[in-house]
Amino acid sequence: MLRVEGRIANEDAEFEGAIEIDTETGLIASVGPPDGRSDLATDGCVIFAGFGDLHVHAREDVSGREIYKEDFASASAAAIHGGVTHFADMPNNPVAPIDDASYAAKERLTQGAAVHITLYGGIGPGTRPLARAVPYKAFMGPSVGELFFSSAEQLEETIARYRGCNVSFHCEDPLILDSSRGAATHEERRPARAEISATRFALELIERYELQGKLCHFSTGEGLKDVIAAKAGGVRVTCEVTPHHLFFDDTMLTDENRLWLQMNPPLRGREDRLAMIEALRAGEIDYLATDHAPHSLKEKGKGTSGVPHLDTYGAFTTWLMKEQRFTTEQIARVCAANPGRFVRPYLPQSYGKGFGRVEEGYVGSLTVLDLKKPYVVTRESLKTKSGWSPFEGVSFPGSVRHTVVRGEVYSQGGGGR
Ligand SMILES: [Zn+2]
Repeated sequence: MLRVEGRIANEDAEFEGAIEIDTETGLIASVGPPDGRSDLATDGCVIFAGFGDLHVHAREDVSGREIYKEDFASASAAAIHGGVTHFADMPNNPVAPIDDASYAAKERLTQGAAVHITLYGGIGPGTRPLARAVPYKAFMGPSVGELFFSSAEQLEETIARYRGCNVSFHCEDPLILDSSRGAATHEERRPARAEISATRFALELIERYELQGKLCHFSTGEGLKDVIAAKAGGVRVTCEVTPHHLFFDDTMLTDENRLWLQMNPPLRGREDRLAMIEALRAGEIDYLATDHAPHSLKEKGKGTSGVPHLDTYGAFTTWLMKEQRFTTEQIARVCAANPGRFVRPYLPQSYGKGFGRVEEGYVGSLTVLDLKKPYVVTRESLKTKSGWSPFEGVSFPGSVRHTVVRGEVYSQGGGGR
């Protein structure tokens, strides 16, 4: 048994308690009152159910062509460093998991990873659903990789085969991207109206084909109004936001940082950024999901889009709590409970009630955040193979003290057993 006592935060309550994790099963055996015996030091800390990041590009596939960027082992190490106890991996690989055989082959590569990895199946022109239930990802327009559609008709023709499935959308309208190609900056080449237009179309598809929809890395306040209206109208749709769209906006871009802060969708204006923060707080956005994109320093220098985030996930949430006054319950909802609900149908039986809640029968994974000890992000501290972070030099007000993965303890900065 592993016993962890302290201040515990679930999505609906914060309380003092003692968690007993059965290290044989990896599940929470009980949650009861504290009695002063804890295997882990948790002074000044808040204990969350293990965080889950639903949007990661770990870059490993059967071709091995991109494992110089990252692989499941290095992504798992970065995740644990960042307090992330499970993640979901995107399918835009050189050999994309788009059918039963290619999905199973990629899944075998995740088996030895230190954290649980849920794989998205890819949806591209001409693909069909797998025999087993998996979450899917559809790229509406070109981003990084080859898996994308070039017209609305082609996308709808394919999506029609996925009726009732769980489908995540990257919302950028390929026609608007195409017509903006000659603009001066990355932000102008991928304008807000591309996301707004693609969002409307994705919402139509989700409703028409009764999908369980998710919109990835949402970035525009205007588009969000349509998402909120659709949710209110009973459309089954949820929404992600990234740390970069919450922390940075286009007013912060300089000649020095512009390439480093290039991603798809790009940074938006200040108003959009503030709208994303408020929507995440209000629960209108459902997940803090990073879009972890571990491109090498050399690639970033040449203008490849995407930024790595797994190492800094937990520390970033302390910025939300301390600087943006999120409650611990709000963080538990968007970082633990909602990601747990998303992956639950795809977990092995042995994962009990799954991730996302500190309660008997759930997975014994915990994210223990020290709200008193800041983390200054340095390149040396990172575990991602890409070796850099958009937050280098930033001092987050808190840090990850312990990450517990199914009863196994990884401690930072002392206090472990
Ligand atoms: Zn992505």
